[in-house]
Amino acid sequence: MDTQSTVAAPIHYYDTSHRTILCGLHGFAHRSTKHARAVTCPSCVALLKGEPAEEHLLAGEPSAGAVVH
Ligand SMILES: [Zn+2]
Repeated sequence: MDTQSTVAAPIHYYDTSHRTILCGLHGFAHRSTKHARAVTCPSCVALLKGEPAEEHLLAGEPSAGAVVH
């Protein structure tokens, strides 16, 4: 964690093209930014990096043992 222990709400990434918060939140109560480096929301950060869900699936599966040819 950061040394700056702010308990404040996380800053989300604001997708300007879709006009939405990247992790799917709605409303104006959430803090958001267009600058990726300023994002602190874990979900938004993960989404910015790519698709963690897909990577997790690949990493969790050592070999496709049930492949039917
Ligand atoms: Zn978020």
